[in-house]
Amino acid sequence: MIRYQITSANPVTHYFDVSIQISRPDPQGQKLRLPNWIPGSYMIRDFARNLLDLKVTNEHGELSVEQLDKSNWMVEATTHPIDVSYRVYAKDLSVRSAHLDASHGYFNGTSVFLEVLGLSELPCEVLIERPPVELARTWQLATSLARKEADAYDFGLYQAENYDDLIDHPVEMGNFERVSFEACGVPHDVILTGRFVCDLDRLAADLKTICEFHIRFFGEPAPMDYYQFQVLVVGDGYGGLEHRASTSLVCSRDSLPKPGQQKITDDYRDFLGLCSHEYFHTWNVKRIKPKVYQPYDLQQEVYTPLLWAFEGITSYYDDLALVRCGLIDQSAYLELLSQTITRVARGKGRTRQSAGESSFNTWTKFYKQDENAANAIVSYYAKGCLIAACIDLRMRSASDGESNLDDVMRALWQQYQATAPGVGEDDIQQLICLLSGADLSSELQEWIYGTAELPLEELLGQHGVELLWRASQNQSDKGGKEIDGELPRVDFGAFLKMSPNGLEIQRVSEQGAAQLAGLAAGDVIVAVNGLKTDQAKLEKQLALAVPDDVWQLHAFRRDELFETDVTLQAAAETTAVLKAAEQNSEQRNLWLQSES
Ligand code: ZN
Repeated sequence: MIRYQITSANPVTHYFDVSIQISRPDPQGQKLRLPNWIPGSYMIRDFARNLLDLKVTNEHGELSVEQLDKSNWMVEATTHPIDVSYRVYAKDLSVRSAHLDASHGYFNGTSVFLEVLGLSELPCEVLIERPPVELARTWQLATSLARKEADAYDFGLYQAENYDDLIDHPVEMGNFERVSFEACGVPHDVILTGRFVCDLDRLAADLKTICEFHIRFFGEPAPMDYYQFQVLVVGDGYGGLEHRASTSLVCSRDSLPKPGQQKITDDYRDFLGLCSHEYFHTWNVKRIKPKVYQPYDLQQEVYTPLLWAFEGITSYYDDLALVRCGLIDQSAYLELLSQTITRVARGKGRTRQSAGESSFNTWTKFYKQDENAANAIVSYYAKGCLIAACIDLRMRSASDGESNLDDVMRALWQQYQATAPGVGEDDIQQLICLLSGADLSSELQEWIYGTAELPLEELLGQHGVELLWRASQNQSDKGGKEIDGELPRVDFGAFLKMSPNGLEIQRVSEQGAAQLAGLAAGDVIVAVNGLKTDQAKLEKQLALAVPDDVWQLHAFRRDELFETDVTLQAAAETTAVLKAAEQNSEQRNLWLQSES
């Protein structure tokens, strides 16, 4: 048994105070280490940079500690119990690390708990103590860690099966709001932190529908006996991270349903999609996972080409669940799918990088995107979602409706329950061929590891959905909707944003009008054809322009003014709209309606 303790002497300093009691340390010298990344977020984050004041004592006094590298330490050999103490600076307001201030505290175990090497498989106890200051007097606590000696939603003694379990249950403390529901007999809590107005009962009812759908999709019973949604509500934010019995989410307050609000707004629909996504991960990636993640090596990058499946298939089912469980209608679902098609179609990166490569390089490319990302890489979320759609539709066609991607996911789940073998690189492709009764291997190989366009038009057509392409209306046009009236006939080839400096180029498209005129990200456009400009003015001019019009542009690069001529290009038709067709409507209904 390893015993951890965590509190904060004063949350306004942003320090968590952590200690570990190890009764039988390695007599050769105890090694300690902190993860460098957190599962689900594939980037080296070097959490140890926030660790300080590390001290180790035994009953005779302080022991020397040698630091071996950025995240590993060796304690002087002793046969007596040792006590390790340190502080962790917590000021990252995201779901990936830790945050602490006067309003609340939040941590992932990966940021705060040192691993005791050689004893990682031992059960852990963790005493989470209320910060001994007035501001924390009314704080509650939320976590999916098992309680040992603690009241529900209170500080106290918690426990974990081992280190891996200990670091997979984030903890939220503060004055949060809570709403509870049961899904297929499993108690669920939604914990909301921040300032917001929300119809909590509505939220709970909608989440219950989604959770029950996913549990029944994989088959009862659910793999966890309790589940927690931890939601941090902010002015503007969006994201989530999956855990085995909880998820941490960030959302903007506008996306929550308001009392009296009947319809599902686009923002609320996106939030439900996010919840659905993280919940689906409870099976797909938290349990069914790549072989190379068994176990996770949290010291360094772990490479797999399979994130197209673990993130892409999850992205496919997150929104699909909303239509199948009746929360949104078919046209709303088709709008969401066409937005994903649009996201992929607009980037030249799709012609350069396959979904498999994007997965493999996530550490240095997808998670470290710069202004050239859209030209250079493809998202394994978005392209993976489209591959999943193609697989699902192709299996339905190939097997005359006898099998589909649902069967593949259930088969993976059964394999996991039987022996938890871990998913090898070709396992999913083989399973698809086996279950569809057709040799789809060369198609699958091209979709996953190639850069040719996916056969979406054909496969959607076979399932009663027409794929149409049009030009983009403006920068905020995400696709999915038909537009009344005329669309711009030209493309400027840059994404622009008003900044304190003026109209700043955020990124340019490769071989687009802006790039060919020598413009680059960071340039600030001040005048078009001799007249001062801003975003609204420029968009108006674009709406009137025709291909091959030449604009004289004045712009600043750093503090240097320059002039250039931009030859406007014909607008590319890379914005997708999906429409329900009259033909094959039965196939469409079979695809978008739930079997259950
Ligand atoms: Zn995900």
